Amino acid sequence: MPATVNGIVASAKGEPVSLRQVTVPDPGPGEVVVAVQACGVCHTDLHYRDGAINDDFPFLLGHEAAGLVDTVGDGVTNVAPGDYVILAWRAPCGVCRSCRRGRPWYCFDSANAAQPMTLDDGTKLSPALGIGAFAEKTLVAAGQAVKIDPAARPEAAGLIGCGIMAGFGAAVKNGGVGRGDSVAVIGCGGVGNAAIAASSVAGARMIIAVDIDDRKLDWAKGFGATHIVNSSGTDPVEAIRALTDGNGADVVIEAVGRPETYRQAFFARDLAGTLVQVGVPDPSMKIELDLIEVFGRGGALKSSWYGDCLPTRDFPMLIDLYLTGRLDLDGFVSETIGLDQVEEAFARMERGEVLRSVVVI
Ligand SMILES: [Zn+2]
Ligand SMILES: [Zn+2]
Repeated sequence: MPATVNGIVASAKGEPVSLRQVTVPDPGPGEVVVAVQACGVCHTDLHYRDGAINDDFPFLLGHEAAGLVDTVGDGVTNVAPGDYVILAWRAPCGVCRSCRRGRPWYCFDSANAAQPMTLDDGTKLSPALGIGAFAEKTLVAAGQAVKIDPAARPEAAGLIGCGIMAGFGAAVKNGGVGRGDSVAVIGCGGVGNAAIAASSVAGARMIIAVDIDDRKLDWAKGFGATHIVNSSGTDPVEAIRALTDGNGADVVIEAVGRPETYRQAFFARDLAGTLVQVGVPDPSMKIELDLIEVFGRGGALKSSWYGDCLPTRDFPMLIDLYLTGRLDLDGFVSETIGLDQVEEAFARMERGEVLRSVVVI
């Protein structure tokens, strides 16, 4: 029987989100219904509400979630009812041109549920990032449900599904951060601090956190930053060079998604250094650089899509790091809130008061 559950819906561009009745169908072939236990509030949810992703309103928001598999459709073999899972917004199809080239972390046809979830009047909902987990239950493709160790509490584990994985992968996979590297991270929200934590785990010798908010810089120290730069009053490029013998960092991670921070990241690299952009810009933004600088400084300019992750490989790895005390996921959980408090959580996020508000259901 289809389930009727409470969910958080963005109905129109820029309007406050609201708690609505959502109909979740029984899982069809290759689909699963997951009873959500916790779901983090991510900037991407706010971007959906503000129409900055696309215009496919109404959206069922939420995509950073952990929960229990409720029911499974025909042909589902990777999970069973009762399994504890994190939801992923990448479920490699195995047959697209990227998967066939052996690069499933770029899968161009990632799986989502085939059936829609709907409002009670039948209106189809667009689930955020193909998940829609600010809801008591959600319907996803089975491949989006990644089984993990139930010892990890859902408020912390769910964050791996988006921000933590994106930041961790940006540093370790895209940036290739390893032992002895110098790293700078511009923007110390959830994703930036995950990049800092990852650089620390990977053995970077110097990790420079850059932000305009002292609160975020304090958090960054807790995640392993060795140096902090408040760029509201200091030129971060000069500061990063000063800390690295005048050279710049081996890897600079841009976790803001703005032209000015991209430029800072570009020039804060050592020669032949790597820039990883993981901050998501809005479609109006442009960047202008002297082409001779792009050539002459060399190195690599990369974009990080979900940290090049393979959820089935990487989520359990991050859970192991958490459960053995080497990745402080709890440090990202600033507060837990009810399903009806997402709009207030957006405001706190915009004011920089939280790393993550986590909805607990
Ligand atoms: Zn594919
Ligand atoms: Zn997200």
